[in-house]
Amino acid sequence: MRAGPMSDLHLLPQDSFAPVCAGVVGAGYVGLTTGACLAHLGHHVVCADIDEERVERLRRGEIPIVEEGLAEVVAEGLSSGRLTFEVGAAAAAADADVVFLCVPTPQGADGGADLRYIETAAAQIAPVLKAGALVVNKSTVPVGSTRAVEDVLERPDVAVVSNPEFLREGTAVYDFLNPDRVVIGADDRSAGERLGDMYAGLNAPVIITDPASAETIKYAANGFLAMKISFVNAIAAMCEAVGANVDDVVEGIGADQRIGKAFLKPGPGWGGSCFPKDSRALVKIAADYGYDFTMMKGVIDVNDEQKRRMVAKVRRAVGLAPGRGLKGTVVGVLGLAFKAGTDDLRDSPSLTMVSSLIAGGARVRAFDPTVDVAPEGAKATVLAGIELVGSVREAATGAKVLVIATEWPEFAKIDLAELATLMQTDAVVVDTRNLLDAAAVRAAGLRYDGVGRR
Ligand code: NAD
Repeated sequence: MRAGPMSDLHLLPQDSFAPVCAGVVGAGYVGLTTGACLAHLGHHVVCADIDEERVERLRRGEIPIVEEGLAEVVAEGLSSGRLTFEVGAAAAAADADVVFLCVPTPQGADGGADLRYIETAAAQIAPVLKAGALVVNKSTVPVGSTRAVEDVLERPDVAVVSNPEFLREGTAVYDFLNPDRVVIGADDRSAGERLGDMYAGLNAPVIITDPASAETIKYAANGFLAMKISFVNAIAAMCEAVGANVDDVVEGIGADQRIGKAFLKPGPGWGGSCFPKDSRALVKIAADYGYDFTMMKGVIDVNDEQKRRMVAKVRRAVGLAPGRGLKGTVVGVLGLAFKAGTDDLRDSPSLTMVSSLIAGGARVRAFDPTVDVAPEGAKATVLAGIELVGSVREAATGAKVLVIATEWPEFAKIDLAELATLMQTDAVVVDTRNLLDAAAVRAAGLRYDGVGRR
């Protein structure tokens, strides 16, 4: 991982700095990080959400999501007075010179991005935008959406630019302040440069291009990253078939500088709030313009198959013949978030596996350090049917199979000897993240099955 300590945060040299009054619409993973980091850089930010409770909590400095370093930058913004929280998009836009749209673009019924939230937010800010304001689309949106926002705004005096965000959940603050690049898509170059100036001092190359290219860059980046994971998962499946070891294969191919090791870690399949919807949107955008993106379809298919392969490992571990159910099998699951460092459950491969295990008759007892044992609201709905417990010990006690589904570092430190005493006899660890040392697990008296490992 590229993440560094929070002390590495890059601060702008104050003498070359022109603070801007910014509005941020949406206080989720992207919007809250954007708002707090822009305030950290010295800008004056009003960050708004439609969720009143979220805004109330943020005003008190309470962070509604798990994200390293976010509490610190929000607290800093609140105490300096440079960061305030309001309800409703109009409140963010009214006094702003630059307004960032950071609202969801979920998958629509046809596989493409649903632009409803973007269009609603644009309609809400249109009447209050100052003359000459700049509207920045940070949400991930299909080609042509910059124009679509212009059409909704009906404000010829306001420029709209695309500025896709590349932060990763879990290291969002670090990534925002230490980007590999800033991408800006603008028809009017001076509007793009105006936004680029806000990021001056971030020590990152600023790529200014046209809106269609900027919008394509975001989907191409996520599509490529998803492809790398699907590729290594397919290689892992091959390793299992031929008796090779994927760890060694990745080391061997990764040493080639044209390939590299980054993002070549086998696992249970990619998930989260971005890759699944963005990969499907990429296929849909291509199809809309007459291109059949068969390669991306394959990437998605491999990913769906990978999750099924993980469930098949559990079935195999308990010696089930095809077609037989898992009734009576106790399965402990470690990790529900789609990856370590976040509490985000959206499209988590862990949840896909858990649903399939429960549907097959298994009793699933799961622990995740970010999931409350008595969740409320939307989380309670998503987690219905899972017995949530508060520790690794509880998840493992009496289980026949223990599935490591999220790579939380604490799971790598499990006391294996104790684990063997807690689980049933002849129990199996299905390590979908290759987190544990297979030999050490076996030495503790447990069976082990990883991904692509001999
Ligand atoms: P999110 O669901 O965490 O947050 C979106 C927020 O917007 C919510 O709190 C919601 O209440 C609020 N909102 C919706 N409509 C609003 C309105 N009209 N006015 C004010 N607030 C409104 O979403 P996110 O994960 O931050 O993603 C936002 C966008 O950024 C998406 O397009 C996503 O694809 C993209 N993106 C996400 C990530 C990521 O890692 N999460 C990374 C890069 C890009």
